[in-house]
Amino acid sequence: MIDARVNEDRLWHSHMVMAKIGATPGGGVGRLALTDLDRDARDLFVGWCQEAGCRVRVDRIGNVFARRAGTDESAAPVMTGSHLDTQPLGGRFDGIFGVLAGLEVVRALNDAGIATRRPLDVVVWTDEEGARFRSGVMGSGVFRGLGTLEDALAMTDEAGCSVGDELARIGYAGPEPVGGFPIHAYFEAHIEQGPVLESEGIVIGVVEGAQGSRRFRVTVEGEEGHAGTLPMTLRRDALLGAARMIDAINKVAFRHQPHPVITAGAIHVRPNSPNTVPGQAVFTIDSRHPDAAVLAAIDEEMRAACAAIAEAGGLPLRIEQTSDNQPVAFDPRCIDSVRNAATALGLSHRDIYSGAGHDACNLSHVAPTGMIFVPCEKGISHNEKENAKPEDLAAGAAVLMQVLAEWAAS
Ligand SMILES: [Zn+2]
Repeated sequence: MIDARVNEDRLWHSHMVMAKIGATPGGGVGRLALTDLDRDARDLFVGWCQEAGCRVRVDRIGNVFARRAGTDESAAPVMTGSHLDTQPLGGRFDGIFGVLAGLEVVRALNDAGIATRRPLDVVVWTDEEGARFRSGVMGSGVFRGLGTLEDALAMTDEAGCSVGDELARIGYAGPEPVGGFPIHAYFEAHIEQGPVLESEGIVIGVVEGAQGSRRFRVTVEGEEGHAGTLPMTLRRDALLGAARMIDAINKVAFRHQPHPVITAGAIHVRPNSPNTVPGQAVFTIDSRHPDAAVLAAIDEEMRAACAAIAEAGGLPLRIEQTSDNQPVAFDPRCIDSVRNAATALGLSHRDIYSGAGHDACNLSHVAPTGMIFVPCEKGISHNEKENAKPEDLAAGAAVLMQVLAEWAAS
């Protein structure tokens, strides 16, 4: 344990000043990636970091690295951060907390006069939200080596503006190569974006990993017929079959609790007429679980359940998988560090899986990685109403400071 204290008021004040950039009438923030507002937020962060004695570098995808020097400058850095961009009607904390918690750690270490052996890098990853360029975790993705820099720079928004042009326009097309250097460890603090911690009255979520997801499009074929003349016994009702399948996949989810979440979120019926027996129903399945093997087993069970219903109803069935995101498991040593720091600080904590994707998921492929969750009000996120308590944010930053200091000493 290092003897330094994060400043709760300063951390909260930084959030409130940052929240003015792109403030929405509903009390949230709308700050899309690589807009003028994103530039202003980056400029504010860079200014604060320079005041705190950090050296700032920007890479070619616009990721910003603010470095607090270590006593051994040849040592690989310990890194922390998140994102400053938001959803169009987003909140004041999603991503922003992870960046400002990193800055608060730097300030608190400065206050206490504590030097670390390894340098500390506080990072702002470019375009985490993906709202503008239909991308998502772009900066950390390129950093990890997922896709090429050229492809990312060529992506365009709805108005046809490219990532590369927008980076240059706002002054964040940096000269540094993207990634390719060793990182000793990466930790990201984030609001939970779910209701678990708040509902259990727990302050720190020790994040074990992020769940994987698979998406499917299910097409059920039946035969159209007159709603008044076709007897019930002779019908091949595609919507009825789809309804039974949706009920069956819901039961699969309940069989595997506590972890899986399975959603049939969209449905299209043909011809969608009140007095015609439906001839076709197409619906989506979104299935998520932290364990790849269980995710695969759930996949099999859902297919079998749908096939049985299709068979019984004489309904030809087609199931297409439309996406496959592997679960992420964070490094056990990083998970232990977060848990131990929370215990040592006397903070209530529990292990938890992230339901959402984060920059940390990309970083877990290039460095030992861990995450720290703090509660947010009612679990609401991607919403102007997103809220968090100053003391919970400070608790998360305090845990972050301890784990960064521990890894920066090793
Ligand atoms: Zn986020």
